[in-house]
Amino acid sequence: MISPDWHEISRSLTLGSRAVIGGRFVDAHSGRTFTSFNPATGEPLAEVAEGDGVDIDAAVASARKAFESGVWSRRAPAERKKVLLRLVELMRAEIPELSATESLDMGKLVRDAAGNDIPAAVNILQWHAEEIDKVYGEMAPLPEGNMGLIRRVPLGVVGAVVPWNFPLNMAVWKCAPALAAGNSVVLKPAEQSPFTALRFAELALEAGLPEGVLNVVPGFGETAGQALGRHMDVDCLAFTGSTAVGKLFLRYAGESNMKQVWLECGGKSPVIVFPDCADLEAAADQVASGIFYNQGQVCSAASRLFVHETIEKTFIDLLLKRVTAYQPGDPLDTRSGLGAMVDANHARNVMRFIEEGRKGAALVTGGNAVTVNGRGSFIEPTIFSDVSPDAVIARDEIFGPVLSVIRFRDEDEAIRMANDSIYGLAASVFTDDLSRAHRVSSRLTAGVVAVNVVDPVSPTVPFGGFKQSGSGRDLSRHATEKYTALKTTWIRYRC
Ligand code: NAP
Ligand code: MG
Repeated sequence: MISPDWHEISRSLTLGSRAVIGGRFVDAHSGRTFTSFNPATGEPLAEVAEGDGVDIDAAVASARKAFESGVWSRRAPAERKKVLLRLVELMRAEIPELSATESLDMGKLVRDAAGNDIPAAVNILQWHAEEIDKVYGEMAPLPEGNMGLIRRVPLGVVGAVVPWNFPLNMAVWKCAPALAAGNSVVLKPAEQSPFTALRFAELALEAGLPEGVLNVVPGFGETAGQALGRHMDVDCLAFTGSTAVGKLFLRYAGESNMKQVWLECGGKSPVIVFPDCADLEAAADQVASGIFYNQGQVCSAASRLFVHETIEKTFIDLLLKRVTAYQPGDPLDTRSGLGAMVDANHARNVMRFIEEGRKGAALVTGGNAVTVNGRGSFIEPTIFSDVSPDAVIARDEIFGPVLSVIRFRDEDEAIRMANDSIYGLAASVFTDDLSRAHRVSSRLTAGVVAVNVVDPVSPTVPFGGFKQSGSGRDLSRHATEKYTALKTTWIRYRC
C-alpha cells in the first residue's frame, strides 16, 4: 500500500474552530479566541472560539431542550443506533484527515494516529452504537399482583471534560455510550487539542444527530470546564485528566447540584518482570512501547519497571536496543519514532522531573530536550536505573517518555512496591509461571492487570482505576451504566 503524503494532507485541512451549540457553528459570545499551536513546529494552526460560562449556559440549555423534546432521548434504540452507525461511516471515511489533524494539534506521530488511535476511536463508537439495542431491563421477583419493571434510562444532560493526549478517543469514550443511551452531551475538549472534537460534532450533525444533542464548547478549564462542573442543570459530569483537576470536579458537584461525577485520572503504572519470563525480548518490546508510545503522555503509561535483580542488566540492555526506534522526529514523517510533547510548558515540566531524577538515580539513556529541524518541543526517550522507590520520579506521574527502573529481590517485595502508590490504574506482570501470573495479578491494585502484555485496550474491556486514578469505568457495557439510571415502575394489578 502506498503511504499517503501526510504533509500534503495536513496542508489541505480546514480546521473548524467555532463552537458547536444547538446545531450551529458559533463564535464565543465574547468574541474572544485563543491560538492553537502545532507543538512540533511552534506554528499557529488556527484561532479557536474561547467559550466561557455564558457559552456553556447556552450549550446546556440547548442540550436540555433536545433531551426534553424526546427527539433523541425517546427515539427507539435501534434508530439511535442507525444514526450513530452513519457517523461511524463518515468518520471511517475521514481517518487520514482526522489522523493528520490530531498529529498537527498535539504532536502525536501520524503513524500511530492513523494506524491505531483514530481507527480505535471509530471502532469504539461502533461498539457502543451496536450495543444499545441489546440492553434488556429486569423484572423484579415481587408477590403475585405486583410487577416491578426495572429499566435503564438516560440521565439527561451529560457534561464531558477531556484531556489532550488522545483527543478524539477521550471524546468518543465519553460521548459514544452517553449518546447511545439517549443523553444529550456538552463536551469541552482540552485547550491544546480542540479540532477533532469539533469535527466529530460536525460529522454527527451530518449523520443526522438532532441539533442540540451534541454540543462542543472549546475553551479553558478554569472558565468553561468549571462552568460545566458547577452547572445546576447538568446531571452527570464525566472527566478524564489529572488527579488534581478530578478532585476539583468532586468539589464543583458538591457545591452545586450533586451531579454524578465519573473520573478517569492519573496513573503511575507498574510493570513487574520476573526471571521466569521466557521471552524477555518480547517483554522488552512491550515495556518500551508501554512508556514511549505517545511520548509517554498516556495515563496508563508503564512508567515504573520492577525487574528482578538477576535479570536487571540483561533487561536494561534489551531496552537500550529498542530506544533507537523511539528517537524524536517530524510527527508527519512515518519514519519518526517519537513525536512532540504537547506544548513547551508541559515539556518544561517533564524536564524538571528529569533534572530531579539525575540527583538520585543513574541516567541510562536520554535526558535531553531537543528540537527537530530546529523547532518544536521534543524530549529524548529517557531511562533511569537504580531508582529508589521513594524517589519523586518513582512516585509522581511525569506524563513523558521517562522510565524509572527499580530492582526487586522477591515476589512479595515486588508486589508491595508496585502497590505503594496513590494511583491504581493499570499494571503488568511478565512471567511464564501460571500460578504466579494469577497470584500476582490478584494482589495488584489496578483496574486492569495485564499478563505478558502492557496496557491492552479493547472496547469489550472496562478501563479505569482504583484509588486516586478515579472512579467508574470507560469502555465496555459498564460504561453505559455510568450514563443511565435504574428506574423502577411498580405496577399493582387485580388478580
Ligand atoms: P488536566 O490539566 O487535568 O486537564 C484535563 C481537562 O480538564 C482539560 O479539558 C482542562 O482544560 C480541564 N481543566 C483544567 N483545569 C480545570 C479546572 N480548574 N476546572 C475544570 N476543568 C479544568 O489534564 P491534562 O494535563 O490535559 O492531561 C493529562 C492528565 O490526564 C494526566 O494526569 C493523565 O493521567 C490524565 N489522563 C487520564 C486518563 C484515564 O483514562 N485515566 C486518560 C488520559 C489522560 P484546559 O485544557 O483548558 O486545561
Ligand atoms: Mg491542561
